[in-house]
Amino acid sequence: AAMREETIKKTKTVCTYCGVGCSFDVWTKDREILRVLPHEDSPANHISTCVKGKFAWDYVNSEERITKPLVRKDGYFQEVEWEEAINLISEKFSSIKHEHGKDALAFISSSKCTNEESYLMQKLARQVIGTNNVDNCSRYCQSPATQGLFRTVGYGGDSGSIEDLEKADMVITIGTNTAEAHPVIASRIKRAHKLLGQKLYVFDIRKHEMAERADKYYLPTPGTDLVWLSAVTKYIIDQNWHNEEFITKHVNDFDTYYESLKPFTLEYAEETTGISQSELKHIAEEIHKSSGVAICWAMGVTQHRIGSDTSTAISNLLLVTGNYMRPGTGAYPLRGHNNVQGCSDMGSMPDTLPGYQKVSDDVARRKFEQAWNVSLDSERGLDNHQMIDSIHEGNLRSLYIKGEDTGIVDANLNFVRSAFEKLDFFVVQDLFMSKTAEFADVILPASPSLEKDGTFTNTERRVQRINKALDPLGESKPDWEIIQLIAKSLGADWNYKHPSEIWYEAQSLMPLVKGITYDRLEGFNSLQWPMNDDGTDTPLLYTERFNFPDGKARLYPLEFNVKSKKTKEMSLHVNNGRVLEHFHEGNMTYQVPGLAYKLPNNFCEISQELADEHGIENGARVKITSKVGTAEVNVQVTDRVTGNYIYIPLNDQNEGAPNFVTDSDVDKDTNTPAYKDNYAKLEVVT
Ligand code: SF4
Repeated sequence: AAMREETIKKTKTVCTYCGVGCSFDVWTKDREILRVLPHEDSPANHISTCVKGKFAWDYVNSEERITKPLVRKDGYFQEVEWEEAINLISEKFSSIKHEHGKDALAFISSSKCTNEESYLMQKLARQVIGTNNVDNCSRYCQSPATQGLFRTVGYGGDSGSIEDLEKADMVITIGTNTAEAHPVIASRIKRAHKLLGQKLYVFDIRKHEMAERADKYYLPTPGTDLVWLSAVTKYIIDQNWHNEEFITKHVNDFDTYYESLKPFTLEYAEETTGISQSELKHIAEEIHKSSGVAICWAMGVTQHRIGSDTSTAISNLLLVTGNYMRPGTGAYPLRGHNNVQGCSDMGSMPDTLPGYQKVSDDVARRKFEQAWNVSLDSERGLDNHQMIDSIHEGNLRSLYIKGEDTGIVDANLNFVRSAFEKLDFFVVQDLFMSKTAEFADVILPASPSLEKDGTFTNTERRVQRINKALDPLGESKPDWEIIQLIAKSLGADWNYKHPSEIWYEAQSLMPLVKGITYDRLEGFNSLQWPMNDDGTDTPLLYTERFNFPDGKARLYPLEFNVKSKKTKEMSLHVNNGRVLEHFHEGNMTYQVPGLAYKLPNNFCEISQELADEHGIENGARVKITSKVGTAEVNVQVTDRVTGNYIYIPLNDQNEGAPNFVTDSDVDKDTNTPAYKDNYAKLEVVT
């Protein structure tokens, strides 16, 4: 037994499957993953994990891993040495920059990678190439939530900790399939609901597990959450139930805001959202009666043409009712990827340098110019959405994508993939031959989290360390090493020997994380940004001030004038999202035999009503066609969806990928695709 013990290694790491950020020890013996053991000290999860965190690690040893650089030669990928691949990239990047200018290149970072790697990706774009064309997948999901919070309270992050959710008297969830997408947060809510008498109100167009458990479940007309939120807020003020003391002390612009609420009468809200006036009054009353209200939301809110405005409406409601500044209150946008918060924090965005310092801010830019010894562009670069347009327009010539399967997860896939075909030079860095990688000129083999050191930042702004449990497989390398190789070959004087050196550089330039050292994150220790001058962290984001110069929040007036895209021919609303067994598009979890066995194929949920109308049997193969494309998938008849609402999970690598159906419409303020705002028709495949 003693001998056996000696060969077993325990390494603390953090899960890569969602923004909860569960931490645990992973037990390994050589390359074998023996078990995953969460710890009482695990800050986000204590002793819990979900099925993915516990069992979904075998992908690291998958035979499908790419372990040597691949270069396309005469139409086929050939294995080459690292030197050849890097030299080719350096030559091509240089010649494209020379011929078409620095902004003919663009960079997409990965929210699955570490903070340090995201920092380096934007540094490569800005310092070495000279462009602000850099973005990450928060553009596909959370940018609208961040925008709504920036407008009203000043920081784009959860206002409290996951733990504090249990202290809420009432939890409202809007457009989040929490039990499947953020299982450990869902368990906390379920527990508080069952044992502590917490009220749970769920708003969603699909009756998922949380909806089943809720005290009240509402199904608003898709894309109209802003209307019921604003009507409830107006009703609260009209009843004199708003928190006047809190507003006087902490909130600006009340009068202009109240004026803007005029159109949001209960009658109008009922007509628009389908929620009855008496129910709207009931919701307002329950909020009024609750000692603390926390609102959780996700893609069902953000992935609409008015995702930012709806997120803003949530924050407005919380401000009017004084539901900020105490544990058990506040705004909880639930981050999807494990490091979507961190990737944005580190400046992998076209308009912000690390720490949300604007590229247009002369003082901030000068600080980075001095540190990096270059002059930086003050103009915003292209975001992910604009990059695809720019390729079609012939301006963007080269794209470097790290760890993102854009060819599956972006909206309007036919349009996205035809853009890839037009690129002069396309580099993809990934673990597997993803759908995106198939279009590349060079594929660089990266290492997953278990094979590297670094930090992740979870949905509650908690920075945690990951530690290397295994050596990189074959010739694969951690992303930070690969980015550094490219930067050096382009002449940059980069000599990072360990991710900690990258962290310290980033940290010296961004006050948000000042004082967070690797030492302070040893073991299961963690810190939540922003850091205070005395070196303490901030579990509760706002205690006395909001993040504006005068310390006061802003109520932000909103309008609603979205026209439905439903037509006579395209009358079925198409929704998409996650399932418990798979992560996102599934290119990691399909490599885990247990999970692939549990859920081998994608499906599409339709109601009994719709099945009867079209004469569709459970299990039948159907084509779902929108104005931009078709997805083909098997049907599951269920009561989770009703009437004309259909649901397709995201995890399909082939013809059932829902993004063949989603069009190019975006949130008007952030360019986040309106994935949840599409209509289609259905045909049985015969
Ligand atoms: Fe991983 Fe999220 Fe599951 Fe935790 S809840 S184990 S972070 S997927």
